[in-house]
Parts: sequence; C-alpha cells; structure tokens
Amino acid sequence: MHSMKRRAFLKSAFGVSAGMVGLSALSPLYASDLDEFKGPKVPDIDAVKVSEHCYYVPALGAHPSPENFGMFSNPGFVVTDEGVVVIDTGSSTQIGEMVLRQIKKVTSLPVVKVINTHYHGDHWLGNHAFVAANPDVSLYCHPSCEKVLKNGQDKFWFDFMQTNTDNKITGTVITLADQHLNGGEVFKLGGVEFKVHHFGKVHTESDIAIEVVTDKTMYMGDMVMRRVANMADGSYRGSIKALSAIEKMPIDHFIPMHGRHEDVQLIKDGRQFVETLYTKAGEYYEEGLSDFEMKPKIMAEPFMKKVASQWPGYESTIGKFIVVAIQEYEMSLF
Ligand SMILES: [Zn+2]
Repeated sequence: MHSMKRRAFLKSAFGVSAGMVGLSALSPLYASDLDEFKGPKVPDIDAVKVSEHCYYVPALGAHPSPENFGMFSNPGFVVTDEGVVVIDTGSSTQIGEMVLRQIKKVTSLPVVKVINTHYHGDHWLGNHAFVAANPDVSLYCHPSCEKVLKNGQDKFWFDFMQTNTDNKITGTVITLADQHLNGGEVFKLGGVEFKVHHFGKVHTESDIAIEVVTDKTMYMGDMVMRRVANMADGSYRGSIKALSAIEKMPIDHFIPMHGRHEDVQLIKDGRQFVETLYTKAGEYYEEGLSDFEMKPKIMAEPFMKKVASQWPGYESTIGKFIVVAIQEYEMSLF
C-alpha cells in the first residue's frame, strides 16, 4: 500500500508538476524508489551449451511481446580461461542482466568483450548491463552499425521495443559499441581462437558473424534464421553470396540469433529460401506480374510449401519479402 501510494505520488510529480516541485526536492526522499522506473526483471532461461566453449540463451518466442519481455533473440557467450566474450545482448538492460546470471552459472570470470552482430535493437539494447558489471569491458560492432545507430536508429529501436513490450524495457540505458570490427580479424583469448566475418550487405549492411575456430562453431547474427521477419535492410543477392560461401566453411555448429542451433542444413535451407524467392520474383517480374500476382506462385514452390511455410512469420510477412525482392531485382537492371 505504502509503495503504491508513493508510486502514484511520483507519477503525478513527474507527469504533471515536476516543473514546480523540482527533481532535487524529490530525489533525497525517493532515491530508493528509482527502481520503480525500471521494468521488471526477466526470468532466468537456462543457457544451451553447443560446443566446448560456446553457449547461447534461447529466445522466448519469435517476436517481441509484453509476455516475453522482448526476449525474442538468442544472446550468445563464449567462455575462455581469460574471460567471457558475449555475442549480442538482447533487447534491454534487464535481458542483459539475465544473460549475466546465466554466465555466472558457468564461470566466475568477467565478461571482457561484447560484440553486437548488427544494429537491430534485439542485438545491442542489453549492452549497458555488461558495462555496469565490468567497466573495463570492450564493446565491438561493425563501423556501419555504430554509424546507423548514431544517426537516430538507437532511439527508434528503444521506442520499438518499449511499444512492443508495454514498456517493460524501461530503465534501459542506450549504450553503443564504440570499437570496430570490419571482418577478417582473428584474435585469441584464453586459448580460444575467434575469427570475424563480414560479407557485405546480407541482413543489414553491418552484419558480422563470429567464428569460434577452436569449436568449429559460428554465431551467425541474423544472416540466416528459420523465421520470416525483416528483409527491409538486407540484400537477397548479398544473402545468396554469403550463405553459399558459409556452406563451404569447416563449421559443425551454426548458432542463429533466432531459432535453435543446427548443422549446415540451416545454412542450406536459408540459402534456398532467399534464392528461390529472389529468382522467382525476377522471373515473374520479367513476365510482367505484380507482387500480389506472383505471391501465390512463389508460395506454391516445393521448397516454400515443404520448408519455409513452417517458419514463424511466413504467412504474414512473405508478401513484404516479395516486394523487397522485386525492388532489388529492379535496381539490379540499372
Ligand atoms: Zn536483425
């Protein structure tokens, strides 16, 4: 009751009369209530161990919602003898804190590096939790990731996640990676060898994949997934090229940031999806068909019917994917 009253008071103070009361008058009295301006704690999700050093914390569903606290991607972590490398931090500080709790179950060593695979909000909004836990942590992303976020996408993604979770990420502090990985870097930490890959524009212009060479395991970012979600920032031709190259790499385990880890079949199916969609959209475009005319024909393709139609978002989003494919095809003609 007491706390309810104070909450109501704070609401009115900040919402209506903050200007008159003044923050300095309130803060000494109610400093302990600042937690009330933070969204709820995210329940623990056990990490999945994929290989000797590689783990990820699996998402609670394919899309952000108030029920899953925005936990719809898989933050990953690699445990070495000299500290932990985190790959993607989830959609909020609260998710980052939950990931830290799972890491603590495996090792007492600190997180020393955080890598964001691209600029979509479910891959970096948890960064602040890791800075708060270890001020010496280094945050990495592709240079274009930092650039895009600094041009206003940081606020866009914060608001997107707030809207989709009924404000459950409240209190999340926007903290951008400021160290750069261009692709091609190789580094060793605690006896584990890492290799960074950038294939150009695939899911976005800023994708990086992190190969843990020692484990024959690769964190894929969003370059491949069994989910039909967002192609607006990506490239079909870039995806086909990248996935064709990745198929031939000596990797046993692929960890997508949405959906479960798999062997090379994940890459093959991902490649076949973008290839079928792009090739068919191009063919039908040449025949003069519009997007809604080609949609049922593309959906009738055997691979689409058998495989892709099982993926979350397929029915609702395939039309948007076709529109993007046509745009890219048209651009390629010039
Ligand atoms: Zn993404």
